[in-house]
Amino acid sequence: MYYPIKIPKWFQKLFPAYLWRGATGQNKKQLYLTFDDGPIPQITPWVLDQLRAYKAKATFFCVGANVQKNKAIYQRILNEGHQVGNHTFNHVNGWKTKHQDYITNVTACREQVESKLFRPPYGRLKWQQAKELRKDYKIVMWEVLAGDFDASITGEQCWQNVCQSAKNGSIIVLHDSQKSWQHLSYVLPKLLEHYHRQGFTFEAITIEDES
Ligand SMILES: [Zn+2]
Repeated sequence: MYYPIKIPKWFQKLFPAYLWRGATGQNKKQLYLTFDDGPIPQITPWVLDQLRAYKAKATFFCVGANVQKNKAIYQRILNEGHQVGNHTFNHVNGWKTKHQDYITNVTACREQVESKLFRPPYGRLKWQQAKELRKDYKIVMWEVLAGDFDASITGEQCWQNVCQSAKNGSIIVLHDSQKSWQHLSYVLPKLLEHYHRQGFTFEAITIEDES
């Protein structure tokens, strides 16, 4: 399975309308953790506990169907001061979905997830879809992909993906999904401890972050 661990700057610049990195304050070291595909009962509450231990804030790109099934967890995400974003209702692939069907699926998610942030599943979006969605959303991509969904690597390799690529302002993708649990449960505690010791704080993405 090939996927880029780190999205290079030149590529980010090809798509300036997308948000690839979070704000970096003066003399501040900040990372932006994002968790896609939840909320899931066996995993998301654990993630929230980990974040709370470090006073870390994060952004959860939720799948509408999962929010519908797990409203209490969704509410807990909000209550604990995290940001949420729209990740479509059924985790649909933009490249394989007709324009209107795609927009309808995003709108169905909107009934569950109130947010001006949108992240396309798989990072895949056709130009026409992007154009339409930008009227209502800030489209959030990422700089660092941990690969926590990849069963062909070890937890340690997944951790190396993060710690060799993340730097001040990086948006990092992790998944609060069953598929990623094995790597996530190894990487997240390490990540929080490692960067906390280096003086980083963990921030939620806001609509004001520049793209
Ligand atoms: Zn996803």
